[in-house]
Amino acid sequence: MTTPLTELIRRELAEITAYVPHSGAYEVRLDANEAPTWLDDEDRAALAKAMLPTSLSRYPDARATDLRAAIARRAGVDADQVLVGSGSDEVIALLLTALDRPRAGFPAATVVTPSPTFVMYRVSAKGRGIKVVEVPLDKQWDLSVSSMRAAIEISKPNIVFLASPNNPTGTLMSPDRVAAIIETAQEALVVIDEAYADFAERGDQATFLARYPNVALLGTLSKVGFAALRVGWLIGPKVVVDAVDKVRQPYNLSVPSQLGATFVLDHLRDEIETAAKSIIRERERVATRLRELGLDVPTSQANFLWVGIGRPAEDVFHKLAARGVLVRSFHERGGRLADRLRITTGTPAENDRLLEALIASL
Ligand code: PMP
Repeated sequence: MTTPLTELIRRELAEITAYVPHSGAYEVRLDANEAPTWLDDEDRAALAKAMLPTSLSRYPDARATDLRAAIARRAGVDADQVLVGSGSDEVIALLLTALDRPRAGFPAATVVTPSPTFVMYRVSAKGRGIKVVEVPLDKQWDLSVSSMRAAIEISKPNIVFLASPNNPTGTLMSPDRVAAIIETAQEALVVIDEAYADFAERGDQATFLARYPNVALLGTLSKVGFAALRVGWLIGPKVVVDAVDKVRQPYNLSVPSQLGATFVLDHLRDEIETAAKSIIRERERVATRLRELGLDVPTSQANFLWVGIGRPAEDVFHKLAARGVLVRSFHERGGRLADRLRITTGTPAENDRLLEALIASL
């Protein structure tokens, strides 16, 4: 329905839809790349205690000093290179807000992303009137350097987003290709999103950060067991961090989120590593089984599998859902995504349920 108010709405919003996670009761939810619950009771109690605000009547620390220091310590950078947000989703939105000046001769700022990749780069950019140029990944779901180069040279982006490991493909982008793109995009900020780095063999992109002045990294606690806290961060050049900080709401992270995330980063590192290792083991067990079933499963370096079932995925997706197992289907995206399911690695029992239901649904 159009009303006079419709005229007030940013035109690009007609091209995007609100993000609505699947609702409904499913016994096994393997759709959102969350980690299975792995905290033991003792750590859980310690974390809950650490999260209690000393005063409920006071605002949080607007600078998130302790949390930023914890992130900086872990990454080996200065705290003034770190900015925190309510999930990396918020950090992505803030980056796009701050770095949106159109290049001379261009009507709007542009971002370049590979495709397929994490949808929020596109959605957040469109929501700000920023143009999005999507460059298909190659046949192995790795970066196509020649296509990315061409896109960067023609569209002169402000930001290039590279998720590595990538969502939804689970693939790690070849480091030499990432380097080639960073070198091509010297006038842009190249944001390497490390949301899934804990599940990758060579997940650490810190060398790019140290080597190039135009690189920033994104991190999050969401994939390793703490999605409920909504804590993500940016590590980057001070000039970018300072600019982004100006568009950040001063109290964007609640006291429990700041305290909880600081505790997790300072005291649960070994536990996270152990949990990630067991998720990796399970991921490989499921991948092997799916390949034995004749499905196409590229090597994953994340906590999910990108499964090609050889025909449009819609039917299998619904059959799985009817058996109480929710995964992500890409059938609506069409093309080479049409036969793909993205399946998060769950507990051994959940994965067994998935395998059983999938075998019955194929
Ligand atoms: N980056 C990537 C690549 C992701 O897949 C996700 C979550 N789906 C995020 C960022 C956002 O994570 P969060 O906002 O929970 O930190």
